[in-house]
Amino acid sequence: MWQNNKSPPEIVNDLRNTFQSGKTKPIGYRVKQLKSLERMLKENIEPIVQAVTDDLNKSKQETILMEIDFLLNEIKYTLMHIYEWSKPEKPSTTIANVLDSVYILHDPYGVVLVMGAWNYPLLLTLSPVIGAIAAGNCVVMKPSDLSPATSKFLATRAPEYLDVDSYRVYEGGIPETTELLKERFDYIFYTGSTTVGKIIQASAAEHLTPTTLELGGKSPVYLDRSADVYTAAKRILWGKCVNAGQTCIAPDYLLCSKEIQGEFVNASRKVLKEFFGNDPKSSPDYGRILSERHVQRLSGLLKGANVALGGEIDVATKYISPTILLDVKPTDPVMQEEIFGPILPIITVENAFDAINFINSREKPLALYIFSNYKRDVEQILSNTSAGGVTVNDTVMHLTVHSLPFGGVGSSGMGNYHGKYSYDTFTHKKGVLHKNLGVIGETLSSPRYPPYTKGKLTY
Ligand code: NAD
Repeated sequence: MWQNNKSPPEIVNDLRNTFQSGKTKPIGYRVKQLKSLERMLKENIEPIVQAVTDDLNKSKQETILMEIDFLLNEIKYTLMHIYEWSKPEKPSTTIANVLDSVYILHDPYGVVLVMGAWNYPLLLTLSPVIGAIAAGNCVVMKPSDLSPATSKFLATRAPEYLDVDSYRVYEGGIPETTELLKERFDYIFYTGSTTVGKIIQASAAEHLTPTTLELGGKSPVYLDRSADVYTAAKRILWGKCVNAGQTCIAPDYLLCSKEIQGEFVNASRKVLKEFFGNDPKSSPDYGRILSERHVQRLSGLLKGANVALGGEIDVATKYISPTILLDVKPTDPVMQEEIFGPILPIITVENAFDAINFINSREKPLALYIFSNYKRDVEQILSNTSAGGVTVNDTVMHLTVHSLPFGGVGSSGMGNYHGKYSYDTFTHKKGVLHKNLGVIGETLSSPRYPPYTKGKLTY
């Protein structure tokens, strides 16, 4: 099934030889590879849409918007800035180094591993790769085994566009990945669940390999009376329903007052009709759940719940309708794990202070959403909670801003990427002090040499 014609040790050895040869170091080479990657995306729109449809039954528009366009924009932005980013930095110095050169060189790490997840199968594999190429590394890409059509697309097409001396795709599930992780990499960039993130971190520790872990968690939304409930419902439900809720930064649950809960359900009924008509099942714009196993898991979360909207499940077609649950308790099953599906539980709180306490009683989320026009409450929530990233008065959209770092904190991950942050992630900043060897420089150096006579003492 997998198209690996070389073993992990052979692949890593090949790439290490390439890296040592210096082939990936010139900026011109990196630019050429990024342009080739751009060409691969532009020339293969239909095959990509087909692969993602085969894997996830996503709508064509969602694949173009959330996978292809996002990658093309990321490449464009990187190409615009790569020369400026890669220049040596000149930090400020003190009088002690007035005769010397002090600068920071940007070294690529070497051979890096990028592991993607299935929910945005092309985006999550290639987006970090853009930063890794821009920074001058050799890359092993490991797409998710749960999105096999996209994995196959990458394994067959990437070698036609990217230099195989420097960039390889390695396919596989748990056994293949376990073998791959035995190799020594210079950096590992992993996207996926928190549980597997711990496995990756443990194997990286064997070689003291630095990592970025892009993980998941339960991302809360707080909505108060100052926000327009209909607009909020539109933005929250879009974030919840895109890719049928299988988005790492999908709003997981809603915190609002009892009074707003009712208004929100009424507004949601209207919004969902506008989005998907009377029957989301027959809408070409509404996705499906990855597998029957995940449908069963999600249906388990609905047992005994107070369903205000939706709740329709069809295991055979992997369908779950957009669903809203009322008066959910923090101890309910739906609040014990990341939902990763189109189910929105509502937990009632009195005010922003209650919301802060609730958020802080749980693991640090990957994203936090606040819908409010009360400036002071927004500031209170921002300064008293911790989250990977935040959007105020919308959901998901902070992901699209290239100048913002994207990543988790605590159990939702470590490190970040996008735009310059991707370039920085895959770059070791090497501090260089280039001393002057002249007589004046040597005189200035003399106080540090023994014997430490009284005249040399500063205090
Ligand atoms: P997944 O099953 O596709 O796994 C991710 C990667 O880990 C794949 O390459 C897979 O082959 C590999 N893998 C799985 N089990 C492994 C094991 N035992 N040993 C070694 N490698 C293994 O994806 P998933 O974990 O189901 O992804 C969903 C999770 O990822 C959710 O929690 C979601 O929130 C999170 N996620 C986070 C981001 C982010 O940017 N922070 C993005 C997307 C998804």
